[in-house]
Amino acid sequence: MRGLWLLLVLVAAATADERVFTGDKVIRVNAESEEQIQLLQALEAQEEFEVDFWLDPVSSDLPVDIRVPLSSLGAVTLFLKSHDIDYSVLIDNLQDLLDEERAEMQKNHMKERITRSFNFGAYHTLETIYSWMDTLVAQYPNLVSKQEIGKSYENRPMYVLKFSTGGNNRPAIWIDTGIHSREWVSQATGVWTANKIASDYGTDASLTSLLKSMDIYMLLLANPDGYVYSHTNDRMWRKTRSINPGYSCRGVDPNRNWDAGFGGPGASSYPCSDSYRGPSAHSEIEVKNVVNLIRSHGNFKSFISVHAYSQLLMYPYGYTCGNVPHQAELDSVGRAAVQKLTSLYGTRYKVGSICNIIYQASGGSIDWSYNLGIKYSFAFELRDTGRYGFILPANQIIPTASETWLALKHLMEYVRDHPY
Ligand SMILES: [Zn+2]
Repeated sequence: MRGLWLLLVLVAAATADERVFTGDKVIRVNAESEEQIQLLQALEAQEEFEVDFWLDPVSSDLPVDIRVPLSSLGAVTLFLKSHDIDYSVLIDNLQDLLDEERAEMQKNHMKERITRSFNFGAYHTLETIYSWMDTLVAQYPNLVSKQEIGKSYENRPMYVLKFSTGGNNRPAIWIDTGIHSREWVSQATGVWTANKIASDYGTDASLTSLLKSMDIYMLLLANPDGYVYSHTNDRMWRKTRSINPGYSCRGVDPNRNWDAGFGGPGASSYPCSDSYRGPSAHSEIEVKNVVNLIRSHGNFKSFISVHAYSQLLMYPYGYTCGNVPHQAELDSVGRAAVQKLTSLYGTRYKVGSICNIIYQASGGSIDWSYNLGIKYSFAFELRDTGRYGFILPANQIIPTASETWLALKHLMEYVRDHPY
């Protein structure tokens, strides 16, 4: 009875101001020409359609995934048909998937309360992840510590987990997850990975030797306000939650806000865009907090940022399609890392520079870290390739994290063995 009451409270709390996506479809277009790409870009610019591009129209080599709200479904399909653009339906009714995801989270929440355990194969709220971090620190006090690197726009603390066996400012590896809040498998993979590092230390010889000479820093919730908002109000929220003066639309794309080609192509100057770059480089406090930590530390050798979805491992640059000086090395390390990843379940990844394998995007974090001198700068796009997109079912969290771990470990070992 008490369980039922709790469940009712949870349902009520979850649905208060929440945006619903009933009848919204996610469709895929495989554009056949540059002309079709331009038409899709024109569609994206039609504000009244309120379409949400999950994968942007950039080149006819890549699929374009579009969430089309029920209200503009007729107009959008008419537009596509009138231009002879073929499409297929990836998700027929987005709200069905979101309802399943929510029900699963609530069921898991009850189970975790009863068993007083943490299920790594489930999605969790910010509060649960933050309190789990304290549990991890308590469990491994000689290895793991929690540091606050500053507050978010809405005044939430931002915590990094530091894995260190001592020393003074040892060379370090940075891993962040969840800079785009709706990419939930990223944060969940971060949580699993943090636990993996802590529990394998002392038993996995390679990881143990790595932690004898290097530190690992993990920022699991790089966009805490967006993450909370994606749970309470809008599951599709990607940006920060800062106010844009003169506009009702909130937020900046925190991965277009870094001081690396800031303001160039592949970012929007329009505050209502999902890829809005912000008023100036590092305008977002969430970005600034990371910049301050990395700069003041001064000894990071690798910077890895984890996104979803598309199954890609990328290196700089995004803001230009020109090669970085270490292109050949980064490419071969990336390929070897992906080979390890694929060895577990056969999941296929592509490797390349951001600009060459997805699109030109300015103001991205790994371009900034690379230009700062952190040679081994990489970004992952985790599972899947569009079947579920951002709504990856929770039963894929552990498989995703497990295969990604093999790639991460390869990258970290390479960094350890190639000091510079
Ligand atoms: Zn992302």
